[in-house]
Amino acid sequence: MRADLAGIAAAPGVAKPDPLLVVDGVTRAFGGLVAVHVEHLEVQRGSITALIGPNGAGKSTLFNVLSGFDRADRGSWTFDGTPVTGLPAHRVARRGLVRTFQLTRTLPRLSVLENVKLAATGQRGERLLPSLVPPLWRAQERQIEHRADELLTRFQLDHLRDAYAGTLSGGQRKLLELARALMARPAMVLLDEPVAGVNPALTQSLLGHVRDLRDEGMTVCFVEHDMDVVMGISDWVVCMAEGEVVAEGTPPVIAKNPAVIDAYLGAEHGEPGVGDDER
Ligand code: ADP
Ligand code: MG
Repeated sequence: MRADLAGIAAAPGVAKPDPLLVVDGVTRAFGGLVAVHVEHLEVQRGSITALIGPNGAGKSTLFNVLSGFDRADRGSWTFDGTPVTGLPAHRVARRGLVRTFQLTRTLPRLSVLENVKLAATGQRGERLLPSLVPPLWRAQERQIEHRADELLTRFQLDHLRDAYAGTLSGGQRKLLELARALMARPAMVLLDEPVAGVNPALTQSLLGHVRDLRDEGMTVCFVEHDMDVVMGISDWVVCMAEGEVVAEGTPPVIAKNPAVIDAYLGAEHGEPGVGDDER
């Protein structure tokens, strides 16, 4: 069930038939450096959109801003038709937009289960009423644990439920990060390099999970450097360079786009390679 985007013009900022996330004029500068300057960007509902671009292009900063982990200097964005500009991360998550981090944020001295359960608290924010009424609190606690166990089973981490998160492999930590992101049943996930540094077998498994999420109706936007991964799984590709969206289109169109080739290879010619020097 691929989102049908084949008929859309491959131009930066192009409108999509059913956008879930719409970004307008977002900038974020650090000192004199403009890390992000995105004029317009729409992400199609129900698609897997890859966000590519060389190191320092602004991909992680854009994710930070959109998910409420960083502030924008200028600009606005809407999620499912509602403005979410400037909301803190837990409120953005409650609206259904959740991100994962390039370097996973699992807590090594807590168990795998506790890590997943904690994500629910972070995403919900503090709610006064349940914490004041013990029966409500206990019912909520049971629901959270049930959901966490469901996700651990889904990602084949259930046998590690009570292990310290610090004992997991890099790949398992990526799965745990994904489980944490899904606690709030988001409509959209922003995955920052979900398979970076993961061995090939676990990469295939992770990509299978990402496809499954899309097939269940979730919208996925992920940062990735490996062009084989990008071309194999994406419905749409957005390329950033020096903070700006320099190209977007379907994978086959993007593979031949001169702006993308330039972004990766300078002024040289040829296909964008697996040019990943970040791992
Ligand atoms: P990408 O994820 O595409 O590799 P980033 O969004 O991490 O790129 O970084 C974009 C630019 O912004 C880089 O030049 C980076 O050094 C800079 N940058 C990112 N975060 C910060 C920060 N907190 N303080 C200062 N500069 C930053
Ligand atoms: Mg990054």
